[in-house]
Amino acid sequence: MDGLMMDFPLTLDALLRRAETIHGGREVVSRLPDRSWHRTDLGSVAARSKCLAQALQKLGVTDGDRVGTLCWNHFRHLEAYFGIPIGGAVLHTLNLRLSPQELAHIINEAADKVVIVDESLLSVWEAVRPLVAVEHVIVCAETDQVPPGMLNYETLLAECDPATFVQPALREKQAASMCYTSGTAGKSKGVAYSHRAICLHTLAAGLTSSFELYERDCVLPVVPMFHVNAWGLPYVAAMCGAKIVFPGPHLDPQSLVEAITQEQVTVSAGVPTVWISVLKELDQNPGRYDVSTVRKIFIGGSALPGSLIESYESRHDIRLVHAWGMTETTPIGTVSYLRHDQHDDPPTQQSEHRARQGTPVPFVEIRAIREEQQVPWDGRSMGELEVRGPWVAESYYQRPDAADRFSPDGWLRTGDIVSIDPRGVMKIEDRVKDLIKSGGEWISSVDLENALMAHEAVEEAAVIAVPDEKWVERPLAAVVVKSNQAVTAEQLREHLLPRVAKWWIPERFEFVSAIPRTSVGKFNKVALRHQLLDA
Ligand code: AMP
Repeated sequence: MDGLMMDFPLTLDALLRRAETIHGGREVVSRLPDRSWHRTDLGSVAARSKCLAQALQKLGVTDGDRVGTLCWNHFRHLEAYFGIPIGGAVLHTLNLRLSPQELAHIINEAADKVVIVDESLLSVWEAVRPLVAVEHVIVCAETDQVPPGMLNYETLLAECDPATFVQPALREKQAASMCYTSGTAGKSKGVAYSHRAICLHTLAAGLTSSFELYERDCVLPVVPMFHVNAWGLPYVAAMCGAKIVFPGPHLDPQSLVEAITQEQVTVSAGVPTVWISVLKELDQNPGRYDVSTVRKIFIGGSALPGSLIESYESRHDIRLVHAWGMTETTPIGTVSYLRHDQHDDPPTQQSEHRARQGTPVPFVEIRAIREEQQVPWDGRSMGELEVRGPWVAESYYQRPDAADRFSPDGWLRTGDIVSIDPRGVMKIEDRVKDLIKSGGEWISSVDLENALMAHEAVEEAAVIAVPDEKWVERPLAAVVVKSNQAVTAEQLREHLLPRVAKWWIPERFEFVSAIPRTSVGKFNKVALRHQLLDA
């Protein structure tokens, strides 16, 4: 049929043009390794992104070539987010917390042609370099000096001119970026994001029912830019024209709260462990910081305890918003907001609603499967979450052996065990591999952890399965007690009694000084199991 709409490609150059022409004056602030602040704007970032694309062309980077980034969150990384894809290449963000062997495996599998490395991460890079065959290494440095054989990012850009950059024709279904899942050594799998997926994800993530970002906002992405596109926030902020504040390598709670206070941050995002530490910093230093500008903090990556929602709201008037996603989903899948008829519920009940992972964002569809059947949306029945949508992976990069992670009818099997209520509100009960199967029934370690963290003396809690002769598996709770507080296993059992089913209550409690973290800051249950069970 004729008379139709234009076939306008959903490619990242359109987002960049918008950032440059509509929001060119909006500030982009970065904290440098020496703790000083660097200030630029979206107009300059856009011009320099084109210079980066041109510099890569001069180095022989062409359509589909992979360019790795081993960088903290800062303005040059934002330039790479745009500059690499608009030149037709593929931005491959590298998790700087992986071991040299894991990084080498990922770089070799993705066949990165060029890697952009922060000067402050050169020691990480030196351990990787002998294990990989990268053609060029570009160093983001504050001085002219870079090690022999490497190129200086600023020198390369100074030799380019945005006005003479010739952008190749981009196809919306070509890869713009890629990221590896944060699995253990050798197991992580590559996910490639098309321009189309990122553009649509950016639109959906910017909705009022998602990140709800406005031009007047000031965004602090604490979530690393090497972890699933920093949840898409850099692209959403550039699209909306929000001011961006990048924390650089300074991710300790004190530096984060300083950044919030100084730059008057309104929106931030990160995994729960970060915000547990920030809360401690705020509580221990009443009156030192002004966080009154913060509207919302988006929490995802692992379950957000309802008690954390209540603590932020009651003590600091900050609203935490819970979201769920994965590397395979670009990542936003679901976001949790109160429904129209829940605003008058008592505060504790509201926190309970908001601690769920929420409803799928538009165009993402969910279902829960147990024994090959869809489980009913009754808010109780548990099954493995499957998702589909325009920014959900349909396969892994060069991993035909992982085809079983997709259902025959094309849904992604997430490995998360969930229940879904009649209005499509999803609640993560566990990871398939963390689920505790006791006497043929499932115990949700997430529910136990959240209930434990609601105890005033508990700073952190993680629950794992331990083998049991009678019940096959039983839960074991590892608990970090707040400094200057004390609590016994018996008191914790009493605390749990009204909150969870009686047979869920762990027999064993281990009081530990810290729960091990993964490379992206989540509780590392594999390491915890080794620590507690192997011992
Ligand atoms: P990653 O690909 O490293 O981002 O990990 C994705 C996994 O993190 C998901 O499959 C979940 O198991 C977990 N996850 C992400 N967001 C949440 C959340 N809000 N609550 C509980 N688990 C989550």
